[in-house]
Amino acid sequence: MTEQTEVRRRAFRGCIVYCRHDPGEGNDPEALEVHEDGVLVVADGRVEAEGPAAQLLPTLGPETEISDQRGRLIIPGMVDCHIHFAQTDIIASYGEQLLTWLERYTFPVEGRFGDAELASETAEFFLDELLRNGTTSALVLGTVHAVSAEAVLDAAHRRGMRLSAGKVLMDRNAPDYLRDTAETGYRDSRALIERWHGVDRLAYAITPRFAPTSSDEQLRRVGELARAYPDTYVHTHVAENPAEVAWVSELFPWSRSYLDVYDRFGMLRERSVYAHCIHLDDGDRRRMAETGAVMGFCPTSNLFLGSGLFDYAAARDAGVGVGLATDVGGGTSFSMLRTAAEAYKVAQLQGTSLSAARLLYLVTLAGAEALSVADRIGGFRPGREADLVVLDPAATPLLARRSAAAGDITERLFALLTLGDDRCIAETWVAGRCLHRRGADSGAGG
Ligand SMILES: [Zn+2]
Repeated sequence: MTEQTEVRRRAFRGCIVYCRHDPGEGNDPEALEVHEDGVLVVADGRVEAEGPAAQLLPTLGPETEISDQRGRLIIPGMVDCHIHFAQTDIIASYGEQLLTWLERYTFPVEGRFGDAELASETAEFFLDELLRNGTTSALVLGTVHAVSAEAVLDAAHRRGMRLSAGKVLMDRNAPDYLRDTAETGYRDSRALIERWHGVDRLAYAITPRFAPTSSDEQLRRVGELARAYPDTYVHTHVAENPAEVAWVSELFPWSRSYLDVYDRFGMLRERSVYAHCIHLDDGDRRRMAETGAVMGFCPTSNLFLGSGLFDYAAARDAGVGVGLATDVGGGTSFSMLRTAAEAYKVAQLQGTSLSAARLLYLVTLAGAEALSVADRIGGFRPGREADLVVLDPAATPLLARRSAAAGDITERLFALLTLGDDRCIAETWVAGRCLHRRGADSGAGG
């Protein structure tokens, strides 16, 4: 924690940039709001005003503290739509694809998270690492243990973060030490929903790992919970890897497709978030659009595990919401800037060039939209919660040189989104409180 003094109103002066809406393929110039010398006024944890400095500065009373960030960019806090906190310690593990990756690395480490002390120590590190990377909101998977979800929700609550998480449900095709049952999984999830869902900025996510590790009975109970608590999230994986897809068609021979398994159990609805969505067909995309289910695009993970290329253009053409995600520990970075850079390359391989505005959209507003919280975060319209990041475009000698050579804001943004990482995150603010300042100790905040 770096900011102990309570200041009611604070104004950030710098280059204010955010997306009003998806810039789209045509890169709609109206989508990007930019104030080169701008001011963002924050009071009581919310955005009070934003606009040109020349216009806003004279209106501010002497009690307003000014944070001078000229030369830097101020963007909304970034949103990670799919990440496993218990996989923090296996990030960058060598040589496997999805199914053997799970057996060799994931299951052994997740088995340890029944230990509340380990779960909470990892949750503290994990959230500090998100904040160090400018990520202020995330949709997080725990492990099969209820205490794992407790640990990350409790740690996020103490930081005042808008965060969603859930205990993983898995009752078959996994080691004994990682299995619940249809009944205990249902009961534990319901108790966690009652305890945590809607507490301040927290939400609960009903989290079956993926179809192969849940029985029909468990998926049926998931559908039951999804109907009983319609404003919780349903969060899982689909169609990541060809061997996984083939396995699902053996386990559920009646299904039209992998996604159809979830559909049959009532798991497609608004606030249903499906990570990967690589090996889908048009029928699946249409079904997601119809039901309001959304996709988590995890480029570093998909490249690292050799899973395939997510088709962003096809998803958007079908009208499906897409949020960007790191998928740590299959993903190789906590940084949404690095993740955006890899998203750009994945789209390039399929003939689509994502503009700077679209990449900014992907790391901020797209995630807020995918999680149905765009009325609260992802932009700087007055009334929004004041989650924001101060980006330093001169964080490294190369970035400083490249930024100096850049012309307009889109060129500077593109260089920053392509070359940037945690070194560019000068400050991270959550609901108007500074929870990370580069070079200073950061932590839970008191
Ligand atoms: Zn995942």
